[in-house]
Amino acid sequence: MMNIDTKNYLLGKNQKDLVPIGQNHLLHRNVVEAFHLLRKLCRDNGFDLSVASSYRSFERQKTIWNEKALGKRQLLSDTGAPLNYETLSQEEILKSILRWSAIPGFSRHHWGTEIDVYCQNSLPSKDYNVMLIPDEVSDDGIFGELHKFLDELIEGNNSYGFFRPYCEDRGGVAPERWHLSYAPLSMQNEELIDFEFFKNNIGEFEIELKELLLSQGDEIFEKYIQNHCLPPF
Ligand SMILES: [Zn+2]
Repeated sequence: MMNIDTKNYLLGKNQKDLVPIGQNHLLHRNVVEAFHLLRKLCRDNGFDLSVASSYRSFERQKTIWNEKALGKRQLLSDTGAPLNYETLSQEEILKSILRWSAIPGFSRHHWGTEIDVYCQNSLPSKDYNVMLIPDEVSDDGIFGELHKFLDELIEGNNSYGFFRPYCEDRGGVAPERWHLSYAPLSMQNEELIDFEFFKNNIGEFEIELKELLLSQGDEIFEKYIQNHCLPPF
């Protein structure tokens, strides 16, 4: 039986082991050293690796989820085009959310092991708003050089444990080249999350689209949670 602290940690409801990095971000204490090493290596190679998103709580994820489910936040197609909420079935709404946002309690960002990164010294202007979209991170995008460098590090096992869980389109979560995961802890966390854990916890949450989610639970668990790229090292 999993203890309550571990359960809450996995679900984004326990901040005990998180520590601040910079002014706006939290990471798990076991990730901080590797993060600083990666940052230094990037800096030594001319890239100011910066964090756009790190730890996210259950409550925050629930807000995003519910806003999308209720049409208060833009929904996107598989390829990222805006969708008209009014024309969508509940099923289509669910699929659109799952492609781009995690189910509350089941975001990898709950663990303090995940970061969405960009390159501060590649911003085209001081007031540029980082969007984390495919154009920015493609090889010829504004953060392309940083990501090519990160690819080399990851391939060569020189990335201090960081890898890309959403490196390619596997039909579930959209590819997110900006998203890095600290494998030594995130892989360990994943081993604790099986379908029973998924189903039982969702059953207890108060979130939009819960019944629809549960009715397709096993498929959704496989396609959107387990189905991601693994570290090459
Ligand atoms: Zn991310």
